[in-house]
Amino acid sequence: MQFMANRLFYHKVIQTSKLTDLILSITCASPTKECMYRECEKCKERQLATSAYDSAEGTVWFQWKSVVEEREKKKQDGTKETIKVHLTTKEKVHGTLKTLLEDFSTTLKAKMGRHVHNICHQHASLTALKDKRNGQNIVLHIDFAENYVCKYGEEVQSTFYGDSHKQTTLHTAVAHTADGVVSLCTLSACMRHDPAAIWAHLKKVLAYLKEKHMEATTLHVISDGPTTQYRSKKNFFFLSQIPYEMGFSRVTWNFLEAGHGKGPADGVGAAVKRQADAIVAKGIDLPNAKMVYEQLMNQPSSIKLMYVSEEEVQEMDGVLPDRLETIKGTMAIHQIVSTEPGEIAWRVLSCFCQEPNTCQCYGLKKVQMSLPSSGPSTSGSQPIPNVHTGLVGRWCIVKYDGDPYPGIVIDVGSDSCLLVKTMSRVGINRFFWPMRDDVIWYRPEDLIRMVPEPVPVTKRHMMLEPSIWKEIFNEM
Ligand SMILES: [Zn+2]
Ligand SMILES: [Zn+2]
Repeated sequence: MQFMANRLFYHKVIQTSKLTDLILSITCASPTKECMYRECEKCKERQLATSAYDSAEGTVWFQWKSVVEEREKKKQDGTKETIKVHLTTKEKVHGTLKTLLEDFSTTLKAKMGRHVHNICHQHASLTALKDKRNGQNIVLHIDFAENYVCKYGEEVQSTFYGDSHKQTTLHTAVAHTADGVVSLCTLSACMRHDPAAIWAHLKKVLAYLKEKHMEATTLHVISDGPTTQYRSKKNFFFLSQIPYEMGFSRVTWNFLEAGHGKGPADGVGAAVKRQADAIVAKGIDLPNAKMVYEQLMNQPSSIKLMYVSEEEVQEMDGVLPDRLETIKGTMAIHQIVSTEPGEIAWRVLSCFCQEPNTCQCYGLKKVQMSLPSSGPSTSGSQPIPNVHTGLVGRWCIVKYDGDPYPGIVIDVGSDSCLLVKTMSRVGINRFFWPMRDDVIWYRPEDLIRMVPEPVPVTKRHMMLEPSIWKEIFNEM
């Protein structure tokens, strides 16, 4: 875009090469989202102002083109494999000033207004959100920092180890809470940056923050937009589950538009790396992630550090269901809102105009994240009037020690007691069969209600229809 603008400006076709000014020159005076998205009836036909120029004059400009190239990649065992890589390359384009101007204004209208508007809107609404902090909210701005390459205090050793240097993954977070701003950094030897890893890191951070701010019920996450891991359906699934397990009752995830500049999380990563380098400079070896963490913990620091193990990342894999709802047009999404476990809603821009309630602005669309893998469709749950042998083999919820558990009725006694085999619970609406069968007799008053069969979400875990679970929970 910028190359084309520069070229047009050079040939004096347009009066400025500043893209923002150019887009503002074809919108209403106080542009709204409709103007910027080219949906405004008043300004959408408006054309760029040009000086008199020779439309047939030839010129050359550059354009970014995305291409797919095949590369050979050496695997760990020495064999080679061919992989496809997506590259963005700068390509020279020849044309006339007329074609250049046409191409430019088409792209300007199609993309630039939207882009500029998204940057401004997301920046303004998220800054306002951070400033308006209260006890009910935690606003968390997160990002992966560049990996820290583990180092040795002595030169000799570092040559000896060659390029076998291990790396440390750094995930950073800046939390805005009722009593101020906290910087956090989670370190791991696990090199994964995928949604399971993101949530293993976030789980640590959330547990820490929740302990300090028990009263916080809404979690607002802010992350980079272009990072596909943050935009994936797996991440959407996790955000519709984990925060609930940790005691939050509402989540928003907000994406910044590309090109917003450096975020506050960058500074946290840089500070941690500086501290680690200072330790190495004193002659102390930092051969792996665990040592980096332990040595940093010995230093005074305003950044809260926590360690995430490989196992903790793998554990998050186990939470993922086999099938997840795909959301079309993921790249245009700037906000995900979840107010029910397992459910999300999305929209093109973030909005907080009804906080702490969720507004419907920008066409908020609801999506159920986890799809049942199999099984007949379920009818809703119903309270049961009396206990009879017809209940044998059916699913129910029983109360044990004050908590609800799903299980299968095995037998019904003459005294209306029920023999029930129950599942164990992990997280809010997540159950599994324990290693040893849990079969005990329940008094009729401990039978809460009959329910449809829970649906599998992973190989080990099952969940109840979220609305039913919520109802049961509210009743308890
Ligand atoms: Zn307009
Ligand atoms: Zn709104």
